[in-house]
Amino acid sequence: MIELDLSGKTALVMGVANARSLGWAIAEQLLAAGAKVAFSYQGERLKPELEKLTKDYPGTLLQQADATNEDELTALFARVKDEFGGLDALVHSIGYAPREAMDGRFLDTTAADWNTTLSVSAYTLVSLCRHAEPLLREGSSVISLTYYASQKVVPKYNVMGVAKAALEAATRYLAAELGAAGVRVNTISAGPMRTIAARSIPGFSTMYDKAAQVAPLGRNATSQEVGKLALFLLSDLASGITGQVVYVDAGSSVMAMKMD
Ligand code: NAD
Repeated sequence: MIELDLSGKTALVMGVANARSLGWAIAEQLLAAGAKVAFSYQGERLKPELEKLTKDYPGTLLQQADATNEDELTALFARVKDEFGGLDALVHSIGYAPREAMDGRFLDTTAADWNTTLSVSAYTLVSLCRHAEPLLREGSSVISLTYYASQKVVPKYNVMGVAKAALEAATRYLAAELGAAGVRVNTISAGPMRTIAARSIPGFSTMYDKAAQVAPLGRNATSQEVGKLALFLLSDLASGITGQVVYVDAGSSVMAMKMD
């Protein structure tokens, strides 16, 4: 059995809201492997939850930063540089779409909702990588979280499916540009998981049950399985993998249909 040792390595995880967040499932694996982890959170109301989650890891860096706010990103990365010197891992676990954009017809998506969704859920990967670039060490790795609605129509996912398609394409362009510095960029396509973000998707429970029914493994993947894949992609075990969309969905994305 391979035990990953990330002691001496540093990571920044962006987008933990609570213990169910995929960002937290990833952070737990990084912390267990001995990495030093910094967290940024969107707004001050999220700070107490992160303090609770990280209380057993004294010295963990916590800083507020809205990923769409350039000044807050500048301050965040300046602090990470001061306290960590550099980064071996960067985790983008951020997504948002206005509820009304997922509740109605895709045809009725407003320009404002389109811009908000793509800006928060896709452009932030580009701006985070730009801010992080001077800190990312050779051999470092960036990951984000995507969903299969980028490839096939998932009812109600609407403009968020478009944002995930943009995130996946951005992953390839970022991988191409950052590869020369020895930095890898990949995105994890996770099956449905019960998180706060998922609760805002109309009909999520039905989608969750249907994905489990068609999946070759006969169930949905777990957030712990997302964490384990993330640990692999963020470690040297994945040193030859970049620009990829890697699925952890109990196989449901390979099924066109199921007859029974
Ligand atoms: P979550 O609600 O726990 O996490 C989403 C995070 O995004 C929150 O911490 C929120 O504060 C943060 N965020 C939103 N807008 C932000 C902004 N402007 N600045 C900084 N942070 C911001 O839900 P989650 O399901 O863990 O979502 C994490 C990622 O996983 C998202 O990209 C989501 O689309 C993706 N994903 C989720 C599922 C699922 O079924 N839950 C499946 C595939 C992919």
